[in-house]
Amino acid sequence: MEIRKGIAVSPGIAIAKPMLIDSKDYRIPRRSILPSQRSDEILRLRKAFSTAISELEGIGSAEEIKESKIQDIFAVHMRFLRDRSFRKRIKDFISKELVTAEYAVSTILREIASHFAGIDDPYISERAADIYDIEKRLLVRLLGKRQEEVDYLREEVVILSSDLTPTQTAGFNKTFVRGFATERGGRTSHTAIVARSMGIPAVVALGDMSSEVPPECVVIIDGNRGVVVIDPDEETLKQYDRYAQQMSQFVSELDELRELPAETRDGVRIQLMGNIEFPDEAQIVLDKGGAGIGLYRTEFLYLYGGQEPAEEDHYSAYAETIRAMDGRPVVIRTMDLGADKLPHSGWHVTEANPVLGLRSIRYCLQALPLFKTQLRAILRASVLGDVRVMFPLITNLQELRQAKMILRDVMEDLDESAVPYNAEMPVGIMIETPSSALTANLLANESAFFSIGTNDLIQYTLAVDRANEHVSTLFSAADPAVLRLMRGVIQDAHKAKIDLSVCGEAASDPEFIMPLLGMGVRTMSLAPPMIPEVKKIIRSVTIEECNRLSRKIATMDSHRQIQNFLRDAATRILPETF
Ligand code: PEP
Ligand code: MG
Repeated sequence: MEIRKGIAVSPGIAIAKPMLIDSKDYRIPRRSILPSQRSDEILRLRKAFSTAISELEGIGSAEEIKESKIQDIFAVHMRFLRDRSFRKRIKDFISKELVTAEYAVSTILREIASHFAGIDDPYISERAADIYDIEKRLLVRLLGKRQEEVDYLREEVVILSSDLTPTQTAGFNKTFVRGFATERGGRTSHTAIVARSMGIPAVVALGDMSSEVPPECVVIIDGNRGVVVIDPDEETLKQYDRYAQQMSQFVSELDELRELPAETRDGVRIQLMGNIEFPDEAQIVLDKGGAGIGLYRTEFLYLYGGQEPAEEDHYSAYAETIRAMDGRPVVIRTMDLGADKLPHSGWHVTEANPVLGLRSIRYCLQALPLFKTQLRAILRASVLGDVRVMFPLITNLQELRQAKMILRDVMEDLDESAVPYNAEMPVGIMIETPSSALTANLLANESAFFSIGTNDLIQYTLAVDRANEHVSTLFSAADPAVLRLMRGVIQDAHKAKIDLSVCGEAASDPEFIMPLLGMGVRTMSLAPPMIPEVKKIIRSVTIEECNRLSRKIATMDSHRQIQNFLRDAATRILPETF
C-alpha cells in the first residue's frame, strides 16, 4: 500500500482499477534490483514481449485491419518486437545496470526513438512515433496498465496521468471514469476546474507515481482530502468503502436542499449561480438548484476541431444554454484564450511567459474578426433570455472602453442588417488583476457589474502560477493581500451601486464562504456540483457571525493563520466535509 498526498481539486471518493494514460510523457524512474532478481526481471521482460506479440497478432488478423493500411503499421511493430538483437539489448541493460525491466525498456526505446527522430529521412524519422507506441505497449504489460483507449472503456477505472489537458478531461465518460489523479497541476488549473464542473473526484500534484502502481491493483482517489492510495490493504479499503457510502448519503441529503432558498439564518438571500464550460452543464446547474449561470467560459468552444468556431457555432451553444436556463441570468464571458487553456492549439504565438502575454481580452482586442464573430453571436442570442456579457482580464479603463467600442461597432452592423438584439444587455467585467482591483472605483463607473475572478487575482497578486504544483502552498485566497484587494473591490461596487459577484474557485471552497459573506458578497458563481454544499453553509450561518469572522481575519497577518481559522470555523458548520 502506498499513500500519496497531493492537492484536492474535486471532491468525492473513487475506488477502481487504475488506468495510466500518456505513458509517453512519463519518466520511468531508475529503480535498482538485486543481482538475485535479475532472472525474474528478464522473465517479466520476456512475458511482456510475448503478450505484446500475441496482442498484435490478434489485432492484425481482424478483417477490417487486414484490409487497411494500418496493417503496415502493425507489421513494423511486429518486426521490432520479434527482433532478437533489440530484445537482447534491453536484456543486457537489465543485467548490466541491475535495473527494472520497465526502466530498461523505456531507456532503450527512447534512445532508439531519438536516434530515429534525428535522421534526415522522413520515412525513418517518422518511425520514432512507432517506437514510442511499442514502448507504451510494453509498459502497459509491465506496469499493469490496460491498453484500452479511454474512449472505449467498458469498466470503471480511475485515470492516472502525468497531466491532463482540459479537453481530455472534458471528454471523459463519467460512467466509467470514476476519478483521476495527476502528477502535475494546481487547484485552479483548468483541468481541475473541468473536473469540478463534471463532479469527478480528482487529486493533482502527486509527483511521480507511474512506477508505483502494481498490475491489477486498486486505487483510491480521495478528492476531499487530496489523498491517493495505491494498492490499499483490506482495512483501508473497508474504511474507504464506508467513507464513500457516508459521502454519497451526505450528497443525497444535500440534494434535498435543492428547492430551499440560499438564505442565511438571519434571513439574508444569497444568489448562487453556476460556472459552466459547455452548454449541457446548464442542466446540472438547474439540477443542483442554481439561480443562473454566473460564468460561461466560452473559450472551451475553441478546444475542439482545431478550427475557429463559426458565428453559428457560437450562437447555437449560447442559444442552447440560454433556453435551458429559461429566463434565469446567463453571464457569457467573452473568450479567455491563452496560456494554460489551449496549450496545444495553434491559436497562439509562442510566448516566453504566456500568462503575462497576449491572453484573454488583450488577444481579442488584437484579433478583431475573431472577437467580433463572438460578439455578434452573443448579441443575437441576447434576445433569447436574460443575457449579460462579461470581459475577462481587464487591467485598465482603456481596455474596457476599447472592448465596449467594438461591441458598439458590432451592434451597428446588426442594425444595418436589421438583426434583433438587446441594446440594453448589461456589460460587466471580471476583476482578476491587481490593477483592476486597485482602480475598481474608476471601472465601476463604466461597468454594469463586477465579477471577482479569484483564480487569476491570486495568481497575479501573489506572483504564483495557478497551475504550478511547486508553489501551490503559496496560492491562497486567504492571503492578507488578496483579502485586502477583494474588500476594496466589494466596497467600490457597493458605492457605485453595481452588481458584484465572485466567480473564482474561492466561491466553491467551503472554507471561504463565511469570509465572502462577511465581506459583503451576496452573489457567488461556482462549480455546479458544489452548489448544495455551499447552500448548506449559507443556511447554517448568520450574516452577523460572518461579519465578525471577516473583521477577525482582517487583523491576522499570514495566510496560514487565516486559513487555519477559517478551516476551524467551517469544520464546526459542516464536519462531514473535513
Ligand atoms: C478566475 O480567474 O478566477 C476565473 C474565474 O477565470 P478563469 O478561471 O477561467 O481564468
Ligand atoms: Mg481568470
